[in-house]
Amino acid sequence: MTYTGSMLMVVAPSGAGKSSLVNALLKQDAGIGLSVSFTTRAPRPGEVNGREYNFLSEAEFLERKEAGDFLEWAKVHGNYYGTSKSWIESQMKNGRDVILEIDWQGARQVQAIIPEAIWIFILPPSIQALEDRLKHRAQDDEATIQKRVAAAKEELTHVAEANYLVINDDFETALAELNHVVLASRLRKNSQLARHQKLAQELGATNNQK
Ligand code: 5GP
Repeated sequence: MTYTGSMLMVVAPSGAGKSSLVNALLKQDAGIGLSVSFTTRAPRPGEVNGREYNFLSEAEFLERKEAGDFLEWAKVHGNYYGTSKSWIESQMKNGRDVILEIDWQGARQVQAIIPEAIWIFILPPSIQALEDRLKHRAQDDEATIQKRVAAAKEELTHVAEANYLVINDDFETALAELNHVVLASRLRKNSQLARHQKLAQELGATNNQK
């Protein structure tokens, strides 16, 4: 079955501004649904169960993993994270676009199962800028900051696996670029032919054609 909707995976090191960009995109574009992941990490102040994440115990997570509930899962900074398979399937069946905020391990797994999934990497303008942003997150001590910087650099080693790179130097520019990627994804031939079946029939076009 060809889904008419797009599956967008947004990957970035922490400090690249991923969540702000995705939230702004979701506000502008009602056609996209955000996948709320499952995690064993403890909620941060202000996070609401079911909104930022579905929080659950490690035992519950592993049970769901064994049951095959996750489209992908990964251990990141010592905690488990996973994407709900049933939620993604229900959205895709209804022709909705979905966005996944996941790490590189998850994006790699999804692309192996769903090659049409689009991997967008959000990059800082420079490593220095990334370090500055991470240092300015007031709550953290030096050791935590250094760990974050090391983890961010590790995430960035996977940049060449992505399909699109958006550099978040100027926020509005990066947001506009992200919007363009979404638009381009909706115009892909197979999606368009599945969406406009009558026209496709009139043209004698099938989505198997190259
Ligand atoms: P945080 O705990 O700071 O919200 O997220 C830590 C990392 O886990 C981020 O890189 C985030 O993108 C990633 N992450 C969040 N949800 C998922 C998920 O469902 N699957 C995978 N593979 N990574 C996730």
